[in-house]
Amino acid sequence: MASSSNRTAPRAHGAYDLLVVGAGFAGSVFARRAAEELGQRVLVVDRRPHIAGNAHDEVDEHGVLCHTYGPHIFHTNAPAVQAFLSRFTEWRPYEHRVLAEVDGRFVPVPVNRTTVNELYGLQIATEADMQDFLDARAESFAEVKDSEQAVVSKVGRDLYERLFRGYTRKQWALDPTDLHASVCARIPIRLSDDDRYFTDTFQAMPAAGYTAMFASMLDHPNIDVQVGTDHHEVAAEARAPLTVWTGPIDEFFDHRFGALPYRSLRFERETRRTPGGGLAQPVAQVNYNNERIPFTRVTEFRHLTGQVAESSTLAYEFPTADGDPYYPIPRPQNRELYHRYEALAKQRHDVLFLGRLARYQYLNMDQVVAGSLQAFERFAADGRGARTAPPLAA
Ligand code: FAD
Ligand code: UDP
Repeated sequence: MASSSNRTAPRAHGAYDLLVVGAGFAGSVFARRAAEELGQRVLVVDRRPHIAGNAHDEVDEHGVLCHTYGPHIFHTNAPAVQAFLSRFTEWRPYEHRVLAEVDGRFVPVPVNRTTVNELYGLQIATEADMQDFLDARAESFAEVKDSEQAVVSKVGRDLYERLFRGYTRKQWALDPTDLHASVCARIPIRLSDDDRYFTDTFQAMPAAGYTAMFASMLDHPNIDVQVGTDHHEVAAEARAPLTVWTGPIDEFFDHRFGALPYRSLRFERETRRTPGGGLAQPVAQVNYNNERIPFTRVTEFRHLTGQVAESSTLAYEFPTADGDPYYPIPRPQNRELYHRYEALAKQRHDVLFLGRLARYQYLNMDQVVAGSLQAFERFAADGRGARTAPPLAA
């Protein structure tokens, strides 16, 4: 059973068909399919002391299930992704809701009718009236070039300044004018009073948590897992015909063109007593746009997990320049640098580069799973998926 404490001694040189670097979604999905469908012998390594990558969760000292690297909410419109993951977990239906603190009030994000009515003391009741309200404030641009314009073109400058500018400047240490439009465009604008953060057809959390789902995915006789192990520790002895690399692409090439910039986070936890199983916040996540407040958002995990307990743990997120590479930073110059690494990657027929760090893309979990499923399909179809390692001893 592959658990977060699992360590297997790597087999001898030539014993593996596939070396997977990174036990997150990108690596684990590929590993499972190669092991199961092609009978490949797979070694998965991760330098962290656990599986599940950034989706890792574990019970803290207060008995509360927490997400180690910030809140992870699963949502997808892709039936193939849902079907694949559903083999390894039951689901708990969960729809994410977020409030933003604005001048002492708490209003829904994404912006919807309630947000506008509360901030401006209005009683807009129809989608048509909401559209008129926004149209009267939105500014038009010949071509939306950055994250400021992405928001101002939809809701105007006042809502942008009250809900987006400060949060974005804290999160990215960049003004929204210096950030690709796609970053703030992740947040839709609603004409209705729908206050759900996502509208995907499938929104749910793994019933026993993400780490349990990964343990089940990696639990296959053809898969060995070594956590607490960096790629360079096994690169020589566990060499395989194919490596799936899900770490930072610039690291793979020894940063030879310079380091790709990543944004990181520091998490501070607070546990409150909640007698009778109560909750500390009205919703799972509260955002803080005010730049005088050093954190961006506070998440209360028990909203996500549905766990009932006498304590509740919250995580405050402080964006940082240093630390684990969590967010590729979408800017044209970074994309250009990535393309130089990508050109090198294309010449490496012995390595597949998959996932958020290897593609240097701001991808959600379901997009990473979809990418790995598709990469596996191509790999299996082009005939490179033959088993090369000796079969398992009975
Ligand atoms: P990762 O999960 O980062 O896995 C890569 C693994 O490779 C890591 O565990 C790393 O330790 C390992 N590794 C790297 N280099 C080496 C090496 N040299 N040797 C050994 N191991 C190595 N997505 C959503 O859909 N919903 C959300 O709510 C959501 N919230 C998020 C919140 C935060 C704070 C962050 C940062 C991301 C969030 N995401 C969310 C995105 C989600 O985390 C990613 O889409 C997903 O985890 C990417 O999976 P991956 O396998 O590509 O990368
Ligand atoms: N954002 C913002 N205010 C908010 C929520 C989001 O300005 O209240 C911006 C911010 O730049 C953020 C981006 O929108 O990085 C995407 O938000 P999302 O919630 O998708 O961020 P993630 O969960 O990926 O950190």
